[in-house]
Amino acid sequence: MKNFTYFRPTTAEQAVALLENRWGNTELLAGGTDLHDLQKEYVAQPSRVVSVTGIGALAGIRVDEKQATIGAGTKLAAIAEHADLRRHFPSLCEAASDIGGPQIRNMGTLGGNLCQRNRCWYFRDEHTPCLLKGGQRCYALDGENKYHAIFTQGRQCVIVNPSTLAPALIALGAGVNILGPKGRRSTDLAKFFFSPANANDREHTLAANEMVLEVTIPVRNWANASYEVRQKLSYDWPLVQAAVAFQGGRNGAKATGVRIVLGHVAPTPHIAEAAMKALEGRDITDANATAAGRAAAEGAKPLSQNAYKIRLVEVAVKRALLMAAGMKRYWEM
Ligand SMILES: Cc1cc2nc3c(=O)[nH]c(=O)nc-3n(C[C@H](O)[C@H](O)[C@H](O)COP(=O)(O)OP(=O)(O)OC[C@H]3O[C@@H](n4cnc5c(N)ncnc54)[C@H](O)[C@@H]3O)c2cc1C
Ligand code: SF4
Repeated sequence: MKNFTYFRPTTAEQAVALLENRWGNTELLAGGTDLHDLQKEYVAQPSRVVSVTGIGALAGIRVDEKQATIGAGTKLAAIAEHADLRRHFPSLCEAASDIGGPQIRNMGTLGGNLCQRNRCWYFRDEHTPCLLKGGQRCYALDGENKYHAIFTQGRQCVIVNPSTLAPALIALGAGVNILGPKGRRSTDLAKFFFSPANANDREHTLAANEMVLEVTIPVRNWANASYEVRQKLSYDWPLVQAAVAFQGGRNGAKATGVRIVLGHVAPTPHIAEAAMKALEGRDITDANATAAGRAAAEGAKPLSQNAYKIRLVEVAVKRALLMAAGMKRYWEM
């Protein structure tokens, strides 16, 4: 690992003042479960590291009757275990409790989860100069791409966004509050993610001198669930994830305001518009959930080794919908 100067400010304003307006030389550090890995592999080589662990106000969860607010420095384990979050947003808490293993969840934070770098093995290999490291080509396009994107149209880099909290939060209509040199700004979390194409891009739309302060989620008593298809049950990322949220859809009520967001299939969390339309105003039945699953996979353009993910999308969406509607989990019987 390259030597670096370590800063530990006690306010978010001090942290932002220490950042630079280009990526690379100065990096924010939260739990370190991703950044330190990248440093050890010489993929990230900052000469200045700004830890947010001394900013007490950055961690914490507040839930009132209108909204939940989760500080960027909140540990994943705290999100997974929080009783009020679990009552309103089981999709989020399930997603948090499936991440990595206990060590990762006890160190990793919400901000780090949303801003973590992608897991493409070419990107993570110090010696492979792909597009995101200033090179001229994407090695995954005609290489080992079984864990890469299937919604690839118009993409030069075919990573999948690695966050499993992001699809759940976007389905729930979350927003994100950001601090930069000009003060605070807010955006929908759905607009926070970005499809990178070169070494100056990140997987999100933050500027290099901005940081995530907190995420807000409206409390509206909607049904919600997240279903992940995983090869390994721990210490790995899902192959495919579907997060859903809707009003009604239970006890004979039609589902409205349907949100279906896919994870691990595109460079950004993928909003499955066709599936949302297919289900809007309908009952959540086995047949309608199956049709929504098929619609969610529409438009996929898989790579040479990952067409198998299309079927996984169909299954994940169907199961997430049935779970949210409180129906029998036939796959567990
Ligand atoms: C074996 C393993 C399995 C995993 N499985 C999953 C999984 O299934 N699903 C999943 O979602 N994740 C998974 N992860 C990733 C894990 O969730 C992340 O490593 C963790 O959330 C990162 O949080 P951190 O606080 O440690 O971030 P750090 O490593 O400290 O930082 C990560 C990045 O975020 C930036 N950052 C941190 N905080 C902020 C902030 N407030 N504002 C702006 N930028 C910030 C840092 O600069 C850095 O670029 C796994 C990790 C491992 C090692
Ligand atoms: S998918 Fe992206 S990160 Fe992976 S090799 Fe291609 S350009 Fe690099």
